[in-house]
Amino acid sequence: MPTTGREPRQERSRQHRIPAAQLDELVLAALARAAAPLSAYQIIAALRDERKTVAPPPIYRALKRLLDQGEIERIEMLSAYRIRIVEKCIHAICDSCGGLSSIPASHAVDALNAAMKHAGFASPRLSIEATGRCARCELADRGGAG
Ligand SMILES: [Zn+2]
Repeated sequence: MPTTGREPRQERSRQHRIPAAQLDELVLAALARAAAPLSAYQIIAALRDERKTVAPPPIYRALKRLLDQGEIERIEMLSAYRIRIVEKCIHAICDSCGGLSSIPASHAVDALNAAMKHAGFASPRLSIEATGRCARCELADRGGAG
């Protein structure tokens, strides 16, 4: 990515409204490219890198739509979003490296969803998150690389 170090800053006045469907695609593309979950402001920064200036309110509306469609998920502990990979899982965040793993847990998720519905919660959006040490960090800590 070559940069000259002096980008013209007058582009702000050329802000134009991006249609909702197109914005959703841009947000999905930004999340798909990212190696880790992105916060709303990191998504805005990623779009700015593509010369797309978007204010926070439309980004939050796009994130809401994509959450409702099940396309993305929010990782509460990180205040960040990512493409949904595994539907019913535990989001395990490593205390050492910050890595995020999706551990399939459909029985647990089904049981918790049933409990929520039993308590009268309509369409619960369940997110199970845990912290610990990932297998790679644990192995490295034991001083062994195989
Ligand atoms: Zn780790």
